[in-house]
Amino acid sequence: QLLIAAARRIEGVLRAGDMVARVGGDEFAVLVRGVDTEHQAVAVANRLLAALEAPFHVGDRAVLTPASIGLAMATEGCTVEDLLANADVAMYRAKSSGRSCYDVFRPAMHQAVVDRMELEAELRRALAQEEFVVHYQPIVDLRQGTTAGVEALVRWQHPTRGLLSPGEFIGLAEETGLIGPLGRWVLREACGQVAAWQRNGVAPGLRVSVNLSSRQLQEADMEVEVAGVLRATRLDPADLILEITESLMVDDSDQIMSRLRGLCALGVRLAIDDFGTGYSSLAYVSRLPVQVLKIDRSFVQAMGRSVEAAAVVRAILSLASSLGFGAVAEGIEEPEQLAELARLGCPFGQGYHFSRPLPAAALEQFLAEEPEPAPLPALGTLRVVRSESLGARGSPGPPLAG
Ligand code: C2E
Ligand code: CA
Ligand code: CA
Repeated sequence: QLLIAAARRIEGVLRAGDMVARVGGDEFAVLVRGVDTEHQAVAVANRLLAALEAPFHVGDRAVLTPASIGLAMATEGCTVEDLLANADVAMYRAKSSGRSCYDVFRPAMHQAVVDRMELEAELRRALAQEEFVVHYQPIVDLRQGTTAGVEALVRWQHPTRGLLSPGEFIGLAEETGLIGPLGRWVLREACGQVAAWQRNGVAPGLRVSVNLSSRQLQEADMEVEVAGVLRATRLDPADLILEITESLMVDDSDQIMSRLRGLCALGVRLAIDDFGTGYSSLAYVSRLPVQVLKIDRSFVQAMGRSVEAAAVVRAILSLASSLGFGAVAEGIEEPEQLAELARLGCPFGQGYHFSRPLPAAALEQFLAEEPEPAPLPALGTLRVVRSESLGARGSPGPPLAG
């Protein structure tokens, strides 16, 4: 009924010689003849948007269906297929820039779509050929001044473009579903590496944090996968921390919750990444099966300049402490930031001040040069907020509330 009503409205703004067709799903194609300028075509698009703006009444319900329109002008030598494909590209652009709007096809847009398709094909190839590497960034026990764990951060060793950072491909991997196999590879690689470091004496008690994307958490066999990796690599579950972003946690579906609980039941720990940037309520956080909060680096970096940021850091630390969670401050770059965090009793920290993420061999070197564990003199008198809760071996962590 909705499609029929929409088609009627579309017909209503067209002229006799124009043509409208439904090309599939909720997509319509409109062929407007005798239009020579883009300006005239845009006028038609605006009339169409206006016509589709008012709610539709389907049965006893009012339905709003804002439209996105892509415009393409036929040029010399342009085939029907080209024209439709160009309009499609412009429509996707319109859609991604918001609802109820139009966009006009430009050849450069075509290039952007082709680039994306190429990157996707390359990403597939890269997975098959194992062009990815994992770098490890130390997570430092601020009281002892020693490395307690590492965060695994993936990079793409691209054959022509060099080492690409995750910002350049994780988004696409998520959109295309390739994050599934990529994430599994990272998990296996990182757990295997850290288990090896534990066994060969490089770092006996080292823990490893691995990032999980929301897409991965939607996979039905996530727990099975993680259990399999732990078994295959012989890593103690208590030494694995899975980092999940706050936005995902806010998606309070039973399915996600039961999956998080399932992961906890394996004995692995969960951390909320980039904490403070999302919108989760404090009450909500206390109900999550989570053991660690990672304070987003934006707060750490603004701490010295803004009393508000410093207050947020203090509040997160006290929240973590009273819930029995561990806390890791991210993005520590300056000694002053470290000193202030230590003063506030932050148990763990991570950032360029200690080390950038390093390839495995360089991380081994970093660990080898590390001084013997000893309380940092400057921090000797500090109140320490449950530094054991990043995951002391054998301790089951705080009981799951709720
Ligand atoms: P993240 O999980 O918040 O990781 C921390 C990022 O901050 C890393 O960027 C790290 O290099 C950077 N960083 C660490 N210390 C400092 C500092 O002192 N100053 C500054 N300015 N930056 C610092 P990277 O490696 O580029 O990773 C970016 C994001 O990509 C990560 O953010 C994470 O969300 C995602 N990512 C990385 N590896 C994986 C992965 O294997 N799977 C998934 N799903 N996401 C990943
Ligand atoms: Ca992370
Ligand atoms: Ca983070």
